[in-house]
Amino acid sequence: MEFVDQVALVTGGGSGIGRAAAVALAAQGATVVVAGRRAASLDETVAAVEAAGGTAYAHRADVTVADEVADLISATVTRHGRLDIAFNNAGILAAAPLADLDPVDWDRLVAVNLTGVFLAMKHEIAHMRSAGGGVIVNTASNIGAHQRRAGMAGYVATKAAVSALTRGAALDHIGDGVRINAISPGPTETTMSLRPGESEADRARRLAEVNPSGRAATVDEIVAAVLWLCSPRSSYVVGHDLVVDGGATA
Ligand code: NAD
Repeated sequence: MEFVDQVALVTGGGSGIGRAAAVALAAQGATVVVAGRRAASLDETVAAVEAAGGTAYAHRADVTVADEVADLISATVTRHGRLDIAFNNAGILAAAPLADLDPVDWDRLVAVNLTGVFLAMKHEIAHMRSAGGGVIVNTASNIGAHQRRAGMAGYVATKAAVSALTRGAALDHIGDGVRINAISPGPTETTMSLRPGESEADRARRLAEVNPSGRAATVDEIVAAVLWLCSPRSSYVVGHDLVVDGGATA
């Protein structure tokens, strides 16, 4: 039990990597606040945490709305007394060659993937530094700063920016006791890694060809790295962007 008496916040916690992270953090003793836009998905995550014997609370918030993010962090601290760990994981994908990328999709990519992480960190850090410290992990992607990928320039740009934002924030605030890193998953078994019209079996066949490990990551393989970055076991790891991609960028 690594996170007993700690309070953790997970954005994008209603599905995929975020849901698995909420379950895993709670299994290690943390009280987890699960944030996202859809109440029904958040409630499913809370139920999954509780079924595993943990404690979680749902908080509806859109990470692109500044007031909702501010309220998410202040309500977390008010209700649960502290905020020790934040996993800023909400993200969206819009894939198109640059000339065909709709400006509305571009704006949304930047708003969710980049501004959402900025807003969350801004309020989390403000609280953590006044409380004596904390740990933050942001979700970037291996195809952001690490691997070439055509047809996704908008998404790739926002994820590379998350890596850079993580580094900058980490340097700004390690002196305040706030340790900040990023995780860069490769293709992971969630709906986000399915191409349009692709089944899970199709994805498995595709990745058997192109990924050095021959498969997608399980959500738990990504979450294991996230929990390590959240824990004191990584205490001297600062501003790092940990790639977990089966060797795709090796
Ligand atoms: P997912 O779609 O299941 O999870 C993304 C979550 O973010 C969803 O619950 C969604 O509702 C939430 N979200 C989207 N917009 C939001 C907003 N405005 N406010 C609050 N929540 C919002 O997919 P996932 O694979 O679990 O993705 C988690 C993160 O991992 C994302 O940042 C994604 O870019 C990143 N990632 C995923 C993969 C992959 O292959 N699945 C690879 C690299 C990086």
